[in-house]
Amino acid sequence: MENVYIGLGSNLADPNAQVEAALAVLAKLPATRLVARSRRYRSAPWGRADQPEFVNAVAHLHTAMPPHDLLQALLAIERAAGRVRDGTRWGPRVLDLDILVYGDRVLNESGLHVPHPHLHERAFVLAPLAEIAPDLEIPGLGSVVYLLADVDASTCLRMAE
Ligand code: ADP
Ligand code: MG
Repeated sequence: MENVYIGLGSNLADPNAQVEAALAVLAKLPATRLVARSRRYRSAPWGRADQPEFVNAVAHLHTAMPPHDLLQALLAIERAAGRVRDGTRWGPRVLDLDILVYGDRVLNESGLHVPHPHLHERAFVLAPLAEIAPDLEIPGLGSVVYLLADVDASTCLRMAE
């Protein structure tokens, strides 16, 4: 079993419900247990400002699924949620599921980069991750709290419910 952290995001089609539904599906993946989840956070859009705000969360899984199988499962969950890839980078999306961390592995393959290459610069990943795993060491980068101290987290707010 590996400790895996998944980043969830949505800014279309009832983002709160999208994130909650995706967490429920993650909990039912084969050979996988949902160990913890963060609260939901609302955050200003990243990359392109001309789109609705995002709802984000992070999940901690114990899984025996190999990295590529897990990625394929995540992409299938995105598709099932109605995500259409139109080639627009950082555009609005019904559901985005990213492998943030997979144990202590460092993978740099064409379709899979782990730890996620933008993890250290995104408050909407680091803030929910710090809620459930502040002392987690990101391979090659340092601890989550250490990385969080270096980003502007003021645009990423933990939601009450
Ligand atoms: P982003 O999540 O960076 O906004 P997309 O979700 O549109 O971008 O990109 C998805 C593609 O990124 C997937 O097809 C996948 O092959 C690739 N990818 C590379 N590394 C990862 C990772 N760690 N987690 C999820 N997808 C990844
Ligand atoms: Mg993605």
